[in-house]
Amino acid sequence: MAKVTIDGKTIEVADGTTILQAARMIGPDVAPPTMCYYSKLKTSGGYCRTCLVEVSKGSEKDPRPMPKLVASCRTTVMDGMEVKNNDSEKVTEARKGVVEFLLLNHPLDCPVCDQAGECHLQDLSYEHGSAKTRTDFERRTFEKIDIGPYVQLHMNRCILCYRCVKVANQITDGRVHGVINRGDHSEIATYVEEAIDNDFSGNVIDVCPVGALTDKTFRFKSRVWFTKPVDAHRNCDKCSGKVVLWYKGEDVLRVTGRKDQWGEVEEFICNTCRFETKKTSDWTIEGPRKLDNHSVISANHYEFLKKPKELTINTVKPLAIEGGNN
Ligand code: SF4
Repeated sequence: MAKVTIDGKTIEVADGTTILQAARMIGPDVAPPTMCYYSKLKTSGGYCRTCLVEVSKGSEKDPRPMPKLVASCRTTVMDGMEVKNNDSEKVTEARKGVVEFLLLNHPLDCPVCDQAGECHLQDLSYEHGSAKTRTDFERRTFEKIDIGPYVQLHMNRCILCYRCVKVANQITDGRVHGVINRGDHSEIATYVEEAIDNDFSGNVIDVCPVGALTDKTFRFKSRVWFTKPVDAHRNCDKCSGKVVLWYKGEDVLRVTGRKDQWGEVEEFICNTCRFETKKTSDWTIEGPRKLDNHSVISANHYEFLKKPKELTINTVKPLAIEGGNN
């Protein structure tokens, strides 16, 4: 076992635990943000540098600080290690740089992007970005390619986190897409414009942190914050059948997997549940979905808000009316 302290909070974890995993065990206050790491996908992480942290004490045996910031998703804890995440100016500065770098080529088209409201890059930019960019170059653009009837690829928005490639490798029967080319020519593509077509292909939509892979059956139907998420399940012979239905009025506009507080799906779902069963009668409704993510979708969930003190009845002072009791 190893004792690690992150932003002043100490936890004991098993040897081999990464700093990121230890931080998540402590809680969301100290957990670094991630764009490519996904706990349900093996070998994910190590691409985006969003989760950089400062190791101010290496270990009990060798207390020297680590000379550079380290990727917390790839660095394992040592006994006595001390880590700074929110408490480090260096980390704040570096994260700003990472956001600027991720936005070098990512279009600022949130007003027309279906991912807006649940986009991790949008949240990251809001919390860690700077208002300006220093680049003079045009953002790179790609020809549109069709990858099938269900999934829309917008390569311009891709941040090359590799999550969708790992989903295809680890969850589906056969991977027909991947990252081709090198450097800023790298792109997600099916090699010969083949359709991504297998029972679990829709999961690439859920894992994509930005709007590069979106649901064709939901495109431009509604902003996500105007929809009502409801937990539901059905008997399915391919997956657990546990999903979230996103309602607008009486209509189910889309079906997704259930995401945990880190924005990761709890269980991957099949395409039949996601794309082909969009009637309420197909499902057993469990109740409203509580969204853990701090994104704008949670904004209208008033039950989490405290009533302002000045509006409670005991604090409202009667108006003094001039000239009598009327
Ligand atoms: Fe990541 Fe999405 Fe690009 Fe795939 S398409 S690499 S999930 S950003």
